[in-house]
Amino acid sequence: MSFNSFKLHPQIAAGVKALGYQTPTPIQVEAIPPVLSGKDVMGLAQTGTGKTAAFVLPILERLLPGLRGKVRSLIIAPTRELAEQIHVSIGELGRNTRLTSCTIYGGVGVNPQIQKLRAGVDIVVACPGRLLDHLNQGTISLANLEVLVLDEADRMFDMGFLPDVRRIIKQLPRKRQTLMFSATMPDSIRKLTDEVLRDPVTVRIDHTAPINTVSHALYPVQQHLKTGLLLELLRQTDIESILIFTRTKHRAKRIAQELQRAGYSAASLQGNLSQSKRQDALDGFRSGLYQMLVATDIAARGIDVLSISHVINYDMPDTTDAYTHRIGRTGRAAKTGDAFTFVSQEDELQVKSIERVLGKKIERRILESFDYTKSAPHRNTEFARPPRPSQRHRAQPKPEQAGLRTDGGAKPKTNSTTPGRGATPGTKGRTSPPSGRRRSRNRTGKPSVR
Ligand code: AMP
Repeated sequence: MSFNSFKLHPQIAAGVKALGYQTPTPIQVEAIPPVLSGKDVMGLAQTGTGKTAAFVLPILERLLPGLRGKVRSLIIAPTRELAEQIHVSIGELGRNTRLTSCTIYGGVGVNPQIQKLRAGVDIVVACPGRLLDHLNQGTISLANLEVLVLDEADRMFDMGFLPDVRRIIKQLPRKRQTLMFSATMPDSIRKLTDEVLRDPVTVRIDHTAPINTVSHALYPVQQHLKTGLLLELLRQTDIESILIFTRTKHRAKRIAQELQRAGYSAASLQGNLSQSKRQDALDGFRSGLYQMLVATDIAARGIDVLSISHVINYDMPDTTDAYTHRIGRTGRAAKTGDAFTFVSQEDELQVKSIERVLGKKIERRILESFDYTKSAPHRNTEFARPPRPSQRHRAQPKPEQAGLRTDGGAKPKTNSTTPGRGATPGTKGRTSPPSGRRRSRNRTGKPSVR
């Protein structure tokens, strides 16, 4: 199947071509025709499946003729990063359409947003809280709205946004097309679907699709050795760009600092940063200025950088769903990527859940060149203290129950790319020379229409 079969307007087809998309992804194949025909659609698909283009392309098609400068489409997203990402996609796909979009979210000045709205935009991509402020202040009019999109609805629920979303929807014209996307379908989302979608077409994309393009490995390690192991792993791995996840904001910051000290170009992305610092970190990561980004789950939501070659879970995520979302950042849209997860004793039950979801056992690896026997420092530093165990898995069974040993005594499968102790980087396997660290890429991710 090709994009031609959607019979998109040549100005829109040109945007698809410019991005180099050859064939539509499964969610695009399934969702674009009903959305183009004006139906409400419920799309069950996670990040990394191409769902953004699945709603952006038909929206551009619908808005191309007709009134300009009035908000005719509203896209609601849970985080500012995701909102920016969608705005960028609209800019890229709609580069020849002269349709305009802007983002609306909190943590930044309200006046530039008011100015853009006054100047006139066709599409608004918004987070719920600030959008509600604009509605309450009368600084946005949604009277001309034709298409509403609720993106990552389950995440909006997780983040407590559904009451705000319902308040917003009450203020929208009743006659409209509504599209909802969600990775999962908990009862809360099913209920919302019944409330806001009219006779919807449901499109479901295999939940594990993006995961199949990723190879997974576990690295058993004690808490206090994680940073050392990370540095050793980086030394031995050929990395294009890498996203590292931690459980806390503080850890994200500390690890980014450690990586910088070790000579890597790294930044952190976490909730303690101002909005402009967050944006700098993201832009720097996209442009290749930073090869490494250390992030918490919430901050990293929806990050879309085409060439993320590795995701490292420095801390195990709380839920299997969070694992899927993190890993969805690499191996996107038919590319391949590696997902490494550091596991310590308290993570064993979570490992089992993830293996259940993947339907296979994940390979355990040890790095032969790394000294796993170092004892923990006396002082209880951030890195020595185990992170909070996940809400669901407070119980801590004995290590041998899950086949994990974190003391280096056991011999899970040795990393096949591992050079022996003291080997020179760059001489074996996928080891990269230090010069590879600041490789730059030319994807700017900047919107071309505003
Ligand atoms: P999304 O799930 O919307 O975040 O998209 C994931 C990634 O896939 C993004 O980097 C898109 O630019 C890319 N993508 C979307 N559709 C296609 C396609 N048909 N062919 C190749 N890449 C795509």
